[in-house]
Amino acid sequence: MNKLIPNKRWPYLLGGALLLIAIGVVVSNRRSSLARQPIVLNAMLQQMRSDPAPWMVAERDVSILLLDMQKNNVAGVALAPSGMFVSTRLGQKYFVGDNAGKLSALVLTSYEKAGAAAFPLAVVGEDIRSANGWHMDMGLLLTVCLLSALGTQAVRVYRGNGFKFSKNDSVVTFDDVIGAAEAKSALMDIKSYLKDPKGFTALGARPPKGVLLSGPPGTGKTRLAKALAGECNVHFIPATGGDFTAMFVGLGAMRVKSLFRKARKNAPCIVFIDEMDGVGRRTTTDTGGTSEAEGNRIINQILAEIDGFNSSSGVIVIGATNFPDAVDPALLREGRFDRKIQLTLPDLADREALFRLFAKEVKTGGELSCPQLARLTTGLTPAAIAYVVNHAALISARQGQTDVPMANFIEAIEVCRMGEVNGSASALTEGERERVAVHEAGHAIIAQVLNVGRVEKVTILSRGGALGVTLVTQTEDKQLHLKSELQHRIQMLLAGRAAELITYNDASSGAASDLKEASKLALSMVATLGLSDSGTLFSLDALTALNIKPDTTTAVAEAESTLTTQNERCLATLRELRGALVELTEKLVERETIDGEEVAQAISNARAANKNLEGASREAA
Ligand code: ZN
Repeated sequence: MNKLIPNKRWPYLLGGALLLIAIGVVVSNRRSSLARQPIVLNAMLQQMRSDPAPWMVAERDVSILLLDMQKNNVAGVALAPSGMFVSTRLGQKYFVGDNAGKLSALVLTSYEKAGAAAFPLAVVGEDIRSANGWHMDMGLLLTVCLLSALGTQAVRVYRGNGFKFSKNDSVVTFDDVIGAAEAKSALMDIKSYLKDPKGFTALGARPPKGVLLSGPPGTGKTRLAKALAGECNVHFIPATGGDFTAMFVGLGAMRVKSLFRKARKNAPCIVFIDEMDGVGRRTTTDTGGTSEAEGNRIINQILAEIDGFNSSSGVIVIGATNFPDAVDPALLREGRFDRKIQLTLPDLADREALFRLFAKEVKTGGELSCPQLARLTTGLTPAAIAYVVNHAALISARQGQTDVPMANFIEAIEVCRMGEVNGSASALTEGERERVAVHEAGHAIIAQVLNVGRVEKVTILSRGGALGVTLVTQTEDKQLHLKSELQHRIQMLLAGRAAELITYNDASSGAASDLKEASKLALSMVATLGLSDSGTLFSLDALTALNIKPDTTTAVAEAESTLTTQNERCLATLRELRGALVELTEKLVERETIDGEEVAQAISNARAANKNLEGASREAA
């Protein structure tokens, strides 16, 4: 499978693969069972191929199917990835959805009980032509059904080919989209084109045809596209890349056609295709099989539609993807999706504005410090911030509060970043609890001393997968990181284990994820960032880019030495501030959670004590 295909789609693709296997097996058996093919099933499949609508519009629940089976009313059933197409002896047609594949198994069981051929049954996959009209042997059927049952779990439900469009149902404008200033200004000429396509072309300007919005999930690509439609007061026709992938050959291309037909009818308008990468890639080899051929057909159809726009048609296609590299290159050429706009994560000011916007939707209690909330949410998307606000309200509801105080927002952020507080803390022994306190105190002290960020909170309450958490936030969003800053980060990561070593003279397994993180950081410093102590500037990425397998021995050795150096520095600092370590550990064991100021206080206490001690020893000398 193409390695560019994003991870999150694998269940979908796996489902598809299973179905294709199923179809392959069946086709090979086609000849032998051809003679037994029931006419009714053949006709039914033929009709389904030309127009599945009569089945799709009549969705029934399982009880109807079971009743029909009991009464021997079923004339034929086609098992599709999304469910069953049923025809009755009375000429009724209906569809029974089967997301979990349980129904296929159920039908199969009663089929088996009833003996041979209770009613004609066929499996249809993405290619109905190869599934057209055969009656299967029971053993084979079992295989197919099992595969199909597995496949249905992951394959999208077939929902006909209607593309709904909206105009003014919920008007969003650029003002409602916080941040994304670059993206908005990049869309300005498209706005002027959509507002007056003819005027635009009268100037002799070549209008844009397609825009590709890319960026991490949750950065508001859909919202931005909607806002553009709202700004221009034009129709917005949404679709998803996956909508075109149909279980019937040719249907995908037909859906593309129907989508653009609708677009032309409603011009000026915006056609929004989400998950553009899901449209697939064209392949040049013939060996790909039907699904690849189908992918080619869909993309070719999209290309034909876009190429066919004339300059005043007033249709703009906006594609959105989290994986711009996975979009077929043919789609990105001049005159197609030739405008690429990258959406980035919101910065500090944007996050503050987002909190102000979303907080209006909940009843906040007391003063809300949006700057602090923004600081705590570095790296979160607008969608995640919306989640935080909503979760804060949920916490209030859970606790029976009448409004949402600031504390709930902070709790919601922690849930979002580190997971819910879980009960496993109670399972720790007293000794383990103290060790976790020592470990976290170590992280907190080094983070504070080296100014890695702002220490917001230290807790030995287990959250998510961690036994304790030291929450360190960045006071600004940094795009560049200095070598010294990265070294400090490594020290902070190693500090938990170092504190345990100093206190107990023995390390524990609790530092596994810290070590993994620190090793990753050290390795990228020496292998790709040119930030090693030895001064090597060679980047291993260059080798991977050229498909040369890199020899990582030297890089790993250098990363190791980086870790050792930083670990020694970290140990030295912690030994010097042993007093702070003891103080913070005691507080954590007693109160479970302490805030950043207490960490700073403990450090200055320890430093003052050291100074007194120095003075005393000098006097004594
Ligand atoms: Zn740790």
